[in-house]
Amino acid sequence: MNTNDYISQVDRVSAHNYHPLPVVLRRGEGEWVWDVEGKKYLDMLSAYSAVNQGHRHPRIIEALKEQADSLTLTSRAFHNDQMGPFLEQLCETTGFERALPMNTGAEAVETAIKAARKWGYLVKGVPEGQAEIIVCEENFHGRTTTIVGFSSDHGSRHGFGPFTPGFVTIPYGDADALAAAVTPNTVGFLVEPIQGEAGVVVPPEGFFGRAVEVCREHGVLMINDEIQTGLGRTGKLFCGDWDGSRGDIMIVGKALGGGVIPVSGILSSSEIMDVFTPGDHGSTFGGNPLGAAVAQAALDVILEEDLAGRSNELGTWFMDRLREIDSPHIDHVRGRGLFVGLVIKDESGSARPFCEALQARGILAKETHEQVIRFAPPLVIERATLEWALDHIAEVVQGAEVAVG
Ligand SMILES: *Cc1c(COP(=O)(O)O)cnc(C)c1O
Repeated sequence: MNTNDYISQVDRVSAHNYHPLPVVLRRGEGEWVWDVEGKKYLDMLSAYSAVNQGHRHPRIIEALKEQADSLTLTSRAFHNDQMGPFLEQLCETTGFERALPMNTGAEAVETAIKAARKWGYLVKGVPEGQAEIIVCEENFHGRTTTIVGFSSDHGSRHGFGPFTPGFVTIPYGDADALAAAVTPNTVGFLVEPIQGEAGVVVPPEGFFGRAVEVCREHGVLMINDEIQTGLGRTGKLFCGDWDGSRGDIMIVGKALGGGVIPVSGILSSSEIMDVFTPGDHGSTFGGNPLGAAVAQAALDVILEEDLAGRSNELGTWFMDRLREIDSPHIDHVRGRGLFVGLVIKDESGSARPFCEALQARGILAKETHEQVIRFAPPLVIERATLEWALDHIAEVVQGAEVAVG
């Protein structure tokens, strides 16, 4: 089968809930991937930052194979010998007392919502059924019905109601709006330290610090969704570290699974985690030994190869270079570390044709929210490779290959 065969097969047998670039990949190594025609590409998306360690990192694949040869799944009806060591490492790495493992990001967000609500009833004393959680406009926290119910993106929620009540929306980055939205029934403030899916939107300087103060003052749990921004992506281990806060509950996922297997979870104090009792929450695959073994290797790689430091150094340099590009189509460049959004001017049309032109040159990047090209390569990338990519990006955003507007 060739590229078109694979694409038409998926069109025929699957739901049409994505609009992928027309490339069919077969192999990956580090920051590189190859398609079924044998063409090589630089991966500048990293599966939405789930592949921070690079494709098939040898150490992670070794952990996967070794664990696959002994035990893969027990459910939580029994203990296994990988979950404890994994969660202890995760707690030690992040500075939280407790961790609760899930699989996908959306499940971990749901877990955080349930923890905050139950904490609100049991600890804060909110009347039963009245808990409120504050969220931000343009948020992305996943795809379950509860989560899309508090999305402001029409496409994400339209046709999927009725939705779970108890969520209040404020503009992203507005600490005054946060303070004004808090009521005695507010249990949590769910926030992305940088909004990834919204187009790598960095909040105004000082917002995060003030949000932490507002939450502390009113007994509201700050819930940091670090699923995409965490584990080195933004140039610190966690993006909240730029403002000195990992939240009262921190949600992790994506790169925690090392680009191999879904592993997610929430982290918190014992006071919060102890609201859970046997039977009130769970997941068949959450904490499975295969994922736990992979996640330990995934964390080791991030820490030992200082991927956060690499992201900071290379990202700062990369963004400076992008800002030097003289193109009539670039509105501005924003981001932190190797988490970068290049915003195409409204009058230059969608970012999609620019991504298609990059694809033709062997660079895979994906548009997000129409106007933004997101650059988020695996953090193991070499400077020379980024240099090569920059030359192509500079030429592509001149627009010669693109039907602009
Ligand atoms: C990807 C993402 C999620 C959802 O993760 P899934 O594994 O796709 O369910 C939640 N929050 C943020 C910030 C994300 O980027």
